[in-house]
Amino acid sequence: MGTFCSVIKFENLQEVKRLCHWGPIIALGVIAICSTMAMIDSVLWYWPLHTTGGSMNFIMLINWTVMILYNYFNAMFVGPGFVPLGWKPENSQDSMYLQYCKVCQAYKAPRSHHCRKCNRCVMKMDHHCPWINNCCGYQNHASFTLFLLLAPLGCIHAAFIFVMTMYTQLYNRMKIILRNKTSIESWIEEKAKDRIQYYQLDEVFVFPYDMGSRWKNFKQVFTWSGVPKGDGLDWPIREGCHQYSLTIEQLKQKADKRVRSVQYKVIEDYSGTCCPLNRGIKTFFTSPCTEEPRIRLQKGEFILATRGLRYWLYGDKILDDSIKEVSFSPSDVSRIRGWFPRNCVEKCPCDAETDQAPEGEKKNR
Ligand SMILES: [Zn+2]
Ligand SMILES: [Zn+2]
Repeated sequence: MGTFCSVIKFENLQEVKRLCHWGPIIALGVIAICSTMAMIDSVLWYWPLHTTGGSMNFIMLINWTVMILYNYFNAMFVGPGFVPLGWKPENSQDSMYLQYCKVCQAYKAPRSHHCRKCNRCVMKMDHHCPWINNCCGYQNHASFTLFLLLAPLGCIHAAFIFVMTMYTQLYNRMKIILRNKTSIESWIEEKAKDRIQYYQLDEVFVFPYDMGSRWKNFKQVFTWSGVPKGDGLDWPIREGCHQYSLTIEQLKQKADKRVRSVQYKVIEDYSGTCCPLNRGIKTFFTSPCTEEPRIRLQKGEFILATRGLRYWLYGDKILDDSIKEVSFSPSDVSRIRGWFPRNCVEKCPCDAETDQAPEGEKKNR
């Protein structure tokens, strides 16, 4: 870094205008997109950060990006070094061995050439590179070459992550297809087990669309004609299951969600921004990493929260004037639901009234 600072001078900083060219714009765009995608992929899908391998992988990714950009900017802003204008050899008799550049009004020093793009005589000129919008020569020969070495290595690492991400996605997809499920149905099944365990019920949830063999399940999705089986409305079910086994379970879960939800009263206004500045630093930095909406809150309103994080809650705004007659019907399209900061609300004293199980649902808790 010391070398970098010593070479960067004020006149180098004026070279920032070199960025305004298709070469650097494309090159930096590609570097930014590839490294960002690789980082997001490795954190979210492929290799979790809390594992040693995952954190090493992430540090390596950042390392590639930093080293690639360092050498790239070094090559661009430090530049090749130009022969001083009006230069002549110390011993004037030596000028007979040199060519003269009319543009620079100077002799061409050994190994230097005049670059038409840079409009200067360049020390030990190699070539003018549009990707760094500068010449490659005496001062930046090393950084330019290191950039060429590091860029493909970083790309190989990123490609490995992309391939592994795709492979993980494919593996997960195939796993559920072989059980004739979708991602959502896997989640419903998991919640069904959780519900049965929570209320200690005698029932057993059997996924109705599992045909019993992987091959039969596979054939439900992949056919030789390319057209999936059935009409998309009626589904073949396994023995002992009801055509509506899954939807019945969904209704039970919906009712259960209401039972387990907690009623809150809004005590402070919230604008609905993603990372609110006025709700404290912890709320700001722990904003849920999801595309789900935030809801605007006004003091005095009531909310039915169904889930939450430490500093955030997710729930439905109770739109009815009388808070006790809350509509839960699926046809209720005027629902306002989303995330909001926990410190804008307080638990309702009347919440105990909603904490009752529907008939036949709760048992020996
Ligand atoms: Zn010249
Ligand atoms: Zn040049």
